[in-house]
Amino acid sequence: MMVSTTSFAQISATSDKTHITYSTTDPLHYRIASLDPRLNITTQQMIELSKQAAAIWEKDTDQKYFVYDPKADLVIHLVFDQRQVRSMKRSENLYLLEQKQQIWLNQNQQLQNLKDNLVQSATQLEFQKIEYQSNTANYQKTLQKLENSRLHKSLIMTLQQQQQLLKQQSADLQNQIEQHNLLVQQLNNEVEKSKLLHQQLNESVATFNQTFKPQVVHKGQFDGKQIFIYEFSSLDDLRLTLAHEFGHALGLKHTKDPKSLMYPRIKEQDAKNFQLTDVDLELLGFSR
Ligand SMILES: [Zn+2]
Repeated sequence: MMVSTTSFAQISATSDKTHITYSTTDPLHYRIASLDPRLNITTQQMIELSKQAAAIWEKDTDQKYFVYDPKADLVIHLVFDQRQVRSMKRSENLYLLEQKQQIWLNQNQQLQNLKDNLVQSATQLEFQKIEYQSNTANYQKTLQKLENSRLHKSLIMTLQQQQQLLKQQSADLQNQIEQHNLLVQQLNNEVEKSKLLHQQLNESVATFNQTFKPQVVHKGQFDGKQIFIYEFSSLDDLRLTLAHEFGHALGLKHTKDPKSLMYPRIKEQDAKNFQLTDVDLELLGFSR
């Protein structure tokens, strides 16, 4: 399934700064100034998350850069506007699409199994047919012998038995072939349905991509005094977005490494278990 991804850019008034303005003896004090209730995050949760965002900078450097302080000057605003609304709608739609896709994949797997069984059964029927043909040939041979020889009662009995057996075999085989063909027909019907479902799925994906066209969304911003968060798709994403803005608050500029925290876009980084890259550490004056 090809679902286009939105590119998220970070804007920052300090992005062209090259010098480092922080001091580890005097960590930056920050607080959460506003948290829109529609984001469904409690203040306590947000404080915890902000500490985790700060820890991303502190874990590998063993430095104390940030202190949560309810009276701090550096404030964080979690804004809820059309950017976040769109992001939430996108997540919701993506979830539904993934469910649809899973249903189709399951059905497809079942059809594949059914098809495999029918291929096996066709091979078996082919063997049975060959056996039947060989038995019929033997019967014809015996019959010819009989025509060229004197009649023996026992031979006639054997032939009658053979004939009976062949009739039975023929009827069985015919029956099995009919059943097999019925199953093939059923499979073909199911395959047609599955194709239709797949077509619908593709249409849904197209609609999704049309509705959520890739666009540059400003997830966060640091204006020199305040951090604004405008968009995040999960708590992991929020943590990383905030950590990025924290980086700007430290005076750090953007990097060119898409895996690094200070890359202008939050997209390729491992949001769940993020670790500072060498490039991020270099910005702070560290080298591994
Ligand atoms: Zn930035």
